[in-house]
Amino acid sequence: MGLSTSTDQLGTVRTGTVAAVLVERDGQSYADNFEDMVAFVREFGSATGELAEDVRSSRCVTCGSATFWMECSEEDGVAMRTCTQCQTAAFIGDSAELWDAADTGDAVCPCGAKVFELAIGFCVGAEPELDVEWIVVGARCTVCHLVGVYADWGIDYVPSASLKQQI
Ligand SMILES: [Zn+2]
Ligand SMILES: [Zn+2]
Repeated sequence: MGLSTSTDQLGTVRTGTVAAVLVERDGQSYADNFEDMVAFVREFGSATGELAEDVRSSRCVTCGSATFWMECSEEDGVAMRTCTQCQTAAFIGDSAELWDAADTGDAVCPCGAKVFELAIGFCVGAEPELDVEWIVVGARCTVCHLVGVYADWGIDYVPSASLKQQI
């Protein structure tokens, strides 16, 4: 921390930035397209014992763009994306619930860029009664194409299938 602190439009105090947890597949960390991103998110899920059976591409509901800035918290498990074309913001999954208490920062690729395409993985695991057991926020840098996971968190309630619409 120790970076600049600012207050965004939702009134949350932001400190610093959020770095990627790099995902490797066949020894490399770069994705050429969305199908590649899906494979990376699945790889991350399986490393944690979860099956990311449903991986979805984020699209802006207002303008259809697929490139976003993102604020998130690795510790608190929340993420919000903002469209780079029309500035429409949207929470990912159930992030709105915990947003005010979370210590969030801007997602920044190791190359320094902050614009991403997003692949949101909805995982199921050992508890079949849960619609969604884990959410994985995968992001591909639009400059260098590095794929990272910037936030992931568990869901321990039902029904939660509607979270799959919040991408
Ligand atoms: Zn938009
Ligand atoms: Zn990058």
